[in-house]
Amino acid sequence: MVTSPDVPADIDPLVHRMRPFGTTIFAEMSALAVRTGAVNLGQGFPDTDGPTAMLTAAAEAIRAGQNQYPPGPGIPALREAVAGHQRRFWGLDYDPATEILITAGATEAIAAAILALCEPGDEVVCFEPYYDSYAATIALAGAVRRPVTLRPDGDGRYAVDPAALRAAFTPKTRLVLLNSPHNPTGKVFTLTELSAIAALCREHDVWAVTDEVYEHLVFTDADAPHIPLATLPGMRERTLRISSAGKTFSCTGWKIGWASGPAPLVAATTRVKQFLTYVNGAPLQPAVAVALNLPDSYYTGLRERMQTQRDQLVAGLHRAGFRVLVPEGTYFATADISALGGTDGVEFCRSLPQRCGVVAVPTQVFYDDPDAGRLLVRFAFCKQPEVLTEATRRLAALRQR
Ligand code: PMP
Ligand code: GLN
Repeated sequence: MVTSPDVPADIDPLVHRMRPFGTTIFAEMSALAVRTGAVNLGQGFPDTDGPTAMLTAAAEAIRAGQNQYPPGPGIPALREAVAGHQRRFWGLDYDPATEILITAGATEAIAAAILALCEPGDEVVCFEPYYDSYAATIALAGAVRRPVTLRPDGDGRYAVDPAALRAAFTPKTRLVLLNSPHNPTGKVFTLTELSAIAALCREHDVWAVTDEVYEHLVFTDADAPHIPLATLPGMRERTLRISSAGKTFSCTGWKIGWASGPAPLVAATTRVKQFLTYVNGAPLQPAVAVALNLPDSYYTGLRERMQTQRDQLVAGLHRAGFRVLVPEGTYFATADISALGGTDGVEFCRSLPQRCGVVAVPTQVFYDDPDAGRLLVRFAFCKQPEVLTEATRRLAALRQR
């Protein structure tokens, strides 16, 4: 968690529960990249546009006057496309009328779900390092996070300790917040891990909220394919499945996301969502519907491109002297800085632009226990090959010093 408040405490009007949260690390590091002219492998956004059919559909929708409030749950064509997509790829059936909600990105879906489901004091089991909005949203709800630390095993793969997982569940547990494929580690949870999570959800009778924004970014050499938690026995009825267009269609600035699940869970989430943004992205919604209906070859092409870029980045990081935890999914790779003399990821990342003209993100800010991630930094590889070539050329300078 970022713990550098921007304003002195005695004059800070901010509510106490948000005070531990400073400027997000993504904003800090992207600003640093702009200021220094460094290659930005920090914040995860692609430097190429999404499918042309989607971009054209958005422009046409604007011209055709789809510029007023869309329906609260999202336009029917998009809800139908979201349903069709989940049936096609994961064999999951959701009723577009009652079981799907369109949101302002996955971020809003996660926030609305947590605010809708958690009473103050309820506990949320999550996995650290965790995506930064989880901690802030859990805090806003007055809930308590119970992180289970993902630690690299002997093969350099992040793994869940079954005993730590079990210990995180208590009588106060309200829900599990699971992100797989996982940011920032690139981990893809295995069937064994998912089964253990599902068994604990059933045993403790708790909800699961799953953040699957990287559902199409699992590489061919991963130990496991992506398995939505909702497909495990007894889980569809207790899981709210969240995804968004940003990563799958390279349009992170559009903020079109969705939540799917049993009608009562979707209704509860909608109740909160309507007072957060009410609705968003009227002309973008039909365009995302077009994108979701693209043939399988689009999705395969995206994954192939990202896998090639992953391999390029990982090879470059190795050459520069990093120990790399090779990701099986997402578009991030984490690396250990100790072989390069680094002892603290935050300091390392703050000095990296000046040392070699590259920006990365320290992953320790995504832990309750910063020691667990002190030596780890994250590089994004959703960048064009020539950008990665330049970044890794610059990083190689670290080794020569
Ligand atoms: N969850 C994870 C794990 C992410 O990496 C991101 C960033 N794309 C989000 C949620 C937020 O998604 P969106 O931009 O659709 O709100
Ligand atoms: N999801 C992106 C990342 O992990 C950034 C999102 C953001 O800036 N909030 O880098």
